[in-house]
Amino acid sequence: MVDVAVIGCGVIGAAVAYSLSQYQLKVAVLEQHADVAVGTTKANSAIIHAGYDPAPGTLMARLNVEGNRLAGEIAEKLSVPFRRVGSLVLALSEDDLERIQALYQRGVANGVPGIRLLSREETLAREPRLSEQVCGSLWAPSAGIIDPWEYATAMAEMAVVNGVDLQLQTRVTGIEPTDFGFAIRTSRGTVEAQYLVCAAGVEAAAVRGMAEAPDYVIQPSRGEYFLLDHSEGETVHSVIFQCPNELGKGVLVAPTVHGNLIVGPNAASTDDPDNCQVTASGLAYIESAARRSVPGLNLAANIRNFAGIRANSDRDEFRIERSETYPHLIDLAGMKSPGLSAAPAVARYAVQLLEQAGLALKKKASFCDRREKFRFNELSDAERAALIAREPAYGRVICRCQTVTEGDILAALHRPIPPRSINAVKRRVGAGMGRCQGGFCSPRVHELIARELCIDPLEVCLEDPGSELLTGETKMGGMA
Ligand SMILES: Cc1cc2nc3c(=O)[nH]c(=O)nc-3n(C[C@H](O)[C@H](O)[C@H](O)COP(=O)(O)OP(=O)(O)OC[C@H]3O[C@@H](n4cnc5c(N)ncnc54)[C@H](O)[C@@H]3O)c2cc1C
Repeated sequence: MVDVAVIGCGVIGAAVAYSLSQYQLKVAVLEQHADVAVGTTKANSAIIHAGYDPAPGTLMARLNVEGNRLAGEIAEKLSVPFRRVGSLVLALSEDDLERIQALYQRGVANGVPGIRLLSREETLAREPRLSEQVCGSLWAPSAGIIDPWEYATAMAEMAVVNGVDLQLQTRVTGIEPTDFGFAIRTSRGTVEAQYLVCAAGVEAAAVRGMAEAPDYVIQPSRGEYFLLDHSEGETVHSVIFQCPNELGKGVLVAPTVHGNLIVGPNAASTDDPDNCQVTASGLAYIESAARRSVPGLNLAANIRNFAGIRANSDRDEFRIERSETYPHLIDLAGMKSPGLSAAPAVARYAVQLLEQAGLALKKKASFCDRREKFRFNELSDAERAALIAREPAYGRVICRCQTVTEGDILAALHRPIPPRSINAVKRRVGAGMGRCQGGFCSPRVHELIARELCIDPLEVCLEDPGSELLTGETKMGGMA
């Protein structure tokens, strides 16, 4: 029996596991996918929001601002790419000027540091590629851009290093309240736990419903994107928003920590939580909306389109609560944006709720809270030469678009949560994330996964089991 079971290992489940791993507790994390951060955490705008958007007094406002501050600390400790580039909300009309004034007041009430209204001239001086229609803007210097899956993976890795039992490919199928807590039925057997934290993202209501009927509904909403090549990465230097509306934070244009430019999202309601399709109409809407901010966007440099699913609930608030019927059950639901920004603060709050429910928290003497990770393509020429002399695998470039070496991939494959699929390697080191989208490097990555993790090449997947890339051996002895 474990003290706490966490269902789901997106950024919220990973942050909870990381927080709990500093205490003397037996913790298990149950995740249905073959890797962490494969749900909504994989596909979003990757912004650590400053926190002026949520209404003052809400949990969302408090946890966003606190999460923003914690993100800086955690990224530094755990070697996660994060840059505080700041954000601008543009006023593109006189009416918008009133709206950004209201956002400014919210920001002040929420305690957002350094927030300020800029004139048209100040705005254009910061970002010369913006539309001539700009009348002014709201500047929030604490907003940042992050690698969202690295953020979640880093926290999950630290949880594992500190003794948390991460069970991948373990789908929860039933929750039975018992005298001691819960018997959690999974695709790999039953896990008994005294306390339960549900962090199931867009499937929150379905998972909570296994124990008791939730008093909320999740209405998934799809957001689609363009991802532009590195050639466009300097188009803007901060995150460019338009005034938010009832559908969300609107279409943004922003640099990414990987040097690309991200443009999106739209908001399309869907009943299917797995519906990550990208539509021509969605992209056309994003293009016309984004051009209102940055008219000269070069969308011909698009290298990929993708979509993510928001876990919107029926209230404009996170649904974080302790069950009244089963006080040992903590539900972390309605984790729409700014869930990524708030994640570490949500986790701290969840731990407080567990403590209120009776969980004893005793710090470990041996808690490890530092994670070293580097990428070859971020090193200076002198550092690269020294590294190659020490470890020749860093001299063999596997992904030419992103300059990812065999050394980077081998290091990733031997980390505490080994990436077992082509996409998992892509999320860890960026191989396949460039202009050719894996056209050249995928076969080499495939070979390295099979060799290093001793997996039959026929079983190496693109993502989860069922997405195997090879079907058999050819008569010539190669793989097909
Ligand atoms: C288009 C879009 C843009 C966004 N932009 C931003 C942004 O810029 N900044 C920001 O702060 N937030 C943003 N968000 C919100 C942010 O991405 C989410 O709040 C965050 O990723 C939610 O994390 P999560 O862990 O709750 O969910 P997920 O990442 O979806 O993780 C839930 C996990 O639970 C697992 N699970 C579900 N059911 C089961 C089961 N039965 N058994 C086992 N495992 C299960 C899933 O497999 C999944 O891995 C955006 C979201 C979208 C969709």
